[in-house]
Amino acid sequence: MVFEQCISISLIIVNLISIVICLYQYVKRPCKTFAFAVVFFLANFLSNYYWGIYLFVMDDYPNVSSFFAYFGWNFAFLVLPAMLHSLHHYGDVKFFSWISLIPIPINIIQLLLYIKYGGIFNNVWQVFFTTVASCMCLNSIVFYVKHRSTGVRLPYVSVIVLLYIFFEYAMWTSSCFSWRSEVINPYNYASIFDIICYFLLPFAIIKYYSIDGDNNSVEYVSKISGYLYTALVLVICFSGYFLAVWMRNTLSSSIDLLDEQSDPYKIIAVILFIIALFIVLFSVAVIFVVRVMQKSDESKRAVMEKTVAERASHAKSDFLANMSHEIRTPINAVLGMNEMILQDSLRFRDVSHLDESEAKSAFRDICRYSGDIDSAGKSLLSIINDILDFSKIEAGRMEVVNADYKLSQVLNDVYNIISFRALAKDLKFDIKIGKSVPDGLYGDSVRIRQVLINLLNNSVKYTKRGSVILSVNAYIRDVSEDNEIWDMIFSIEDTGIGIKQEDIDKLFDKFERVDLANNSSVEGTGLGLVIVKNLLDMMNGNVSVQSTYGQGSVFTVVLPQVVKSKELVGDFRAKSEQSIDSLKSKAEILYAPDAHILVVDDTHVNLTVVKGLLKNTGINIDTVDNGDDAIRMSEKNKYDIILMDSRMPVMDGTTAMNLIKSDEGNPNVNVPFICLTADAVDGARERYIADGFTDYLVKPMNSDALKSMLMRYLEKERV
Ligand code: ADP
Repeated sequence: MVFEQCISISLIIVNLISIVICLYQYVKRPCKTFAFAVVFFLANFLSNYYWGIYLFVMDDYPNVSSFFAYFGWNFAFLVLPAMLHSLHHYGDVKFFSWISLIPIPINIIQLLLYIKYGGIFNNVWQVFFTTVASCMCLNSIVFYVKHRSTGVRLPYVSVIVLLYIFFEYAMWTSSCFSWRSEVINPYNYASIFDIICYFLLPFAIIKYYSIDGDNNSVEYVSKISGYLYTALVLVICFSGYFLAVWMRNTLSSSIDLLDEQSDPYKIIAVILFIIALFIVLFSVAVIFVVRVMQKSDESKRAVMEKTVAERASHAKSDFLANMSHEIRTPINAVLGMNEMILQDSLRFRDVSHLDESEAKSAFRDICRYSGDIDSAGKSLLSIINDILDFSKIEAGRMEVVNADYKLSQVLNDVYNIISFRALAKDLKFDIKIGKSVPDGLYGDSVRIRQVLINLLNNSVKYTKRGSVILSVNAYIRDVSEDNEIWDMIFSIEDTGIGIKQEDIDKLFDKFERVDLANNSSVEGTGLGLVIVKNLLDMMNGNVSVQSTYGQGSVFTVVLPQVVKSKELVGDFRAKSEQSIDSLKSKAEILYAPDAHILVVDDTHVNLTVVKGLLKNTGINIDTVDNGDDAIRMSEKNKYDIILMDSRMPVMDGTTAMNLIKSDEGNPNVNVPFICLTADAVDGARERYIADGFTDYLVKPMNSDALKSMLMRYLEKERV
């Protein structure tokens, strides 16, 4: 009896552990299998508890009806097939193997053997459900064996359940026979293994589902609630035990005890059953509450996700509508102004009948129209650049290219661009440099310039009157053996329309334009700040905003940069004007009447543009519109430079260049080849140079860029 008592108490303990584990797992990841496992263990607990405690306290089996005795266990057997069914093995739902029917005849034999002991109803019930469960287990094991090479996961749960059923049968069968000694009684060993299966089952389910990862990271009940539940259940269990002991003592001292017929101890079993039932109902209530919390949380999350998705999709469709508007506006200006130039040119074709003032006015008009075309073209280009940059960022292809640079140069470029725009709106614009800002830095000056221009452009765009000020400061951040890293602080302050507090969080979302009621007439894509934020992220910097609606905003950029020279930025304008002016003036006064260049482009307008931009340079320009003609011309003439479009039908620029270079008799074997291309993506320059081009000019090009390029490659005596 002592051994059986130990087994019963161990069974209760393991049963409780399994309930807690499965319940915890179910809360963590609400999959059906854990729910069924909880019900399975709770149902078993219903019988195990009163049976085990009664045995422990009374040193005897409870004398109750077989329905009452087996109620919990029978319910657990009913749950087993449902639990197995919920596992969703890959494809084995449709799979069937005859091998899986092996348990049927074995179980029938067992049933016939055991039927006289446990009653017909109980035995048929138990054998029926365990047979179904064991057939299912065997089926999924056979399925695994046949398909394991295709990545089918091992049916851990089926293996454990099959073993569990096997040991249950072993217990039942061995109890039908009498054994000479307890040591050889298989019942004892089977019951130990049965407990081990109890213990392993929750881990088998965890192992089975661990492959999917934790699909629900939200902890609906904290660990403390888990401990509380466990503690409460333990307290109730112990109370049941003490109550049973107290009842036994009380009943045994009472006089009516001798009435053997009515078994007064039966009440202890009933009370213990009620306590176990209370624990079961309490646990079911916990599951129910958790499920309700999960459902409401899931629906809240779904609503939130839907709102976010709707906002993103709205922003995207607004973006497309806005883009169409933003692109059409400058195109409209370009085409409209150009038509006016055409009309005026036709009208004034015969200038002989115009007096001087009429002629001057006509040319002034044409100048104004072409100025408008210039600004519309530039705004179109900036939109396209924004879209290209944004798509590069989205595709993860945006790169940071670090090099030594002068901050004064960057600030000067920024000043030139922004002061012009601020002036057009009558805004005061200034750049204030802190005392200790170093000039020689190492970083990506192109992207830093882009960030500053973007933020300053916004300030100018969203400010009707007042000022836009860029302040630059720097503070040392980190000193290592080779480097000093400084935090460069750029703060852009305007007296513009400001941003509402609730809109500030949306600013850096893609396609988001805020406060449209007030700034719908201001052109923009809603991409500028996203690009700024992403570029700064890539350079380990950050941007923050402070704004008072109606009064103005301050955008602050903090960007760590390696300092290469401690020379101060000081009067940045004077400094960089020297270098820029010398370059510019050289480009502007380029005059090389002895120079002879070849321009190859399949688009005739582009040939006209190059010729027009170089009109006053005196350079002799040959133009052809395909690679074949370029080769033919290069065989006849010696050129100083060949400008070659990269993408042309029939023969592309690279092939034509390589054919010229590989023909030793060609006088242009060593001539500089400049690639003309609209391919402005990252790495294009490196690619063209690797292909053999000497340098690279990106379209649309302006006269400064073109002339500077020619200056660089023309021999000195030609200029
Ligand atoms: P956009 O091309 O519309 O200017 P951005 O991404 O650059 O796109 O800016 C997003 C929105 O942030 C703008 O539509 C505007 O409403 C707001 N915003 C940006 N900068 C400022 C500023 N300096 N003052 C007021 N509002 C601003």
